[in-house]
Amino acid sequence: MRHLVIGAGPAGLAAVETLRALDPQAEIALVCDEPPYARMVLPYYLQGNIEDRAVLTADAGWFEARGVETVLGRRVTGLEPAEHRVLLDDGTALEYDRCLVATGSRVRTPDVAGADSAVPMWTLEHARTWLGSPHSETVVVGAGFIAFTILDAVVARSRSVRFLEREAQVLPRMLDAVAAGLVQRHLEARGIQVRTGVELEQIEEAGARRRLQLAGGESLECDSVLLATGIQPNVEFLQGSGVDRNHAIVVDDRMQTSAPDVYAAGDVAEGPDLQGGARTVRAIQPVAVDHGRIAAANMAGEDVRYDGALTMNILAVQGLEASSFGHWESQDDVTCVENPADGIYRKYVWDGDRLAGGILVGPTHAVSGLNDVGMLKGLVQSGVALGPWRAHLEENPLDLRRPYVASGAAKILLGTTLLAGCASAGGGFRWPAVAPKRGRTPHHGVLTGGSPR
Ligand SMILES: Cc1cc2nc3c(=O)[nH]c(=O)nc-3n(C[C@H](O)[C@H](O)[C@H](O)COP(=O)(O)OP(=O)(O)OC[C@H]3O[C@@H](n4cnc5c(N)ncnc54)[C@H](O)[C@@H]3O)c2cc1C
Repeated sequence: MRHLVIGAGPAGLAAVETLRALDPQAEIALVCDEPPYARMVLPYYLQGNIEDRAVLTADAGWFEARGVETVLGRRVTGLEPAEHRVLLDDGTALEYDRCLVATGSRVRTPDVAGADSAVPMWTLEHARTWLGSPHSETVVVGAGFIAFTILDAVVARSRSVRFLEREAQVLPRMLDAVAAGLVQRHLEARGIQVRTGVELEQIEEAGARRRLQLAGGESLECDSVLLATGIQPNVEFLQGSGVDRNHAIVVDDRMQTSAPDVYAAGDVAEGPDLQGGARTVRAIQPVAVDHGRIAAANMAGEDVRYDGALTMNILAVQGLEASSFGHWESQDDVTCVENPADGIYRKYVWDGDRLAGGILVGPTHAVSGLNDVGMLKGLVQSGVALGPWRAHLEENPLDLRRPYVASGAAKILLGTTLLAGCASAGGGFRWPAVAPKRGRTPHHGVLTGGSPR
């Protein structure tokens, strides 16, 4: 059996690990136009907290140890399911018995003049380009999830930072208006300008600087423009392949596409939703890893079904943590508690006595220090019935711990998070020699009773 994986992001590498664990004799080949690395580490790289090589997730030795033949620096330009082969940009072809498409996504550039003079923020190359060019005054176009993952790094590196968002609030696909307002005020209190309801019309050169023209006639000048304006899946090479696509590649609960022996995983796959909604793309790393492992298990001959992806967003900006899960946007049956003075907001969305979604915003000691993010996620993901603990949570919205323990949510989750015993097979740290550069963080202080450095 010869497996071919296209893409060396988290979905592709999780698939390689799983394939090797389940099918020791199989041939495995991997092709990717970039080196293997994790995009979600880029904010730490941008901020200077980790070195270049810690962004990378595998090297030649890692592939060699797993018997993987690699073709790095090449693009796949076509897929021919009937011939069981893919075509590469150097005119050669690679054959397969089973193929995984894990080609991820890229930034969707806004359709305005001059947009190509801005730096998109999605790849390691983009991060290097921004670091290597003047960025004393930076404008970030977009105030969604990706823009906010890099916010602390951009603020640390630039004297002035302004965020422009076309929608009426920041983080429109992650937080409701109350939570978004709280986050925006937190940033503004720290001198970070955030403009919402703003439409960019053009980016032009102004000497060595950039001028952004906004609808309504206003203009802004800066050294550097970063684009965080949404993403789109890398599916163009499938033109003519017969593989069904909607927004992205449509897959079933085994991560199989409409073409025989072709699977898809990660940002490029439109797969099942955990809460029974329409098939969807959830462009986050945990979903990419789950997809990769499920697809690989099925490619290796097992019959493993995917329960579906959970809507999940977790961020920290300037010491304020924000997260949302499941049907966080619903207003039907909710418990909300707010303390704007302390930056705290909680929203629980109910489906009977089950939590269907929620939002947590607050400083680290009020959210992550208590592990409330993990517990809210677990309660929504497990869909566990809380019985009398619903009333308890309504009366004590800050006490997630007891309903979490009493309901047995952790036990339910254990069964859903381990795949055929190969969760840690071949895993572990890929860079054992790399130690984190930073010392204690506020989290440690909260947990150990000591004070953060
Ligand atoms: C700045 C930033 C911060 C993020 N923060 C978080 C976070 O905090 N939490 C979180 O969960 N997620 C985060 N993400 C999102 C997360 O990184 C993605 O969801 C994840 O990388 C998707 O993995 P993937 O394997 O599907 O695709 P990718 O990581 O995109 O990997 C796909 C690979 O395939 C390659 N490829 C594409 N087309 C071809 C082709 N035709 N031929 C050969 N190779 C090809 C691509 O170049 C790429 O190297 C962040 C992303 C960014 C950019």
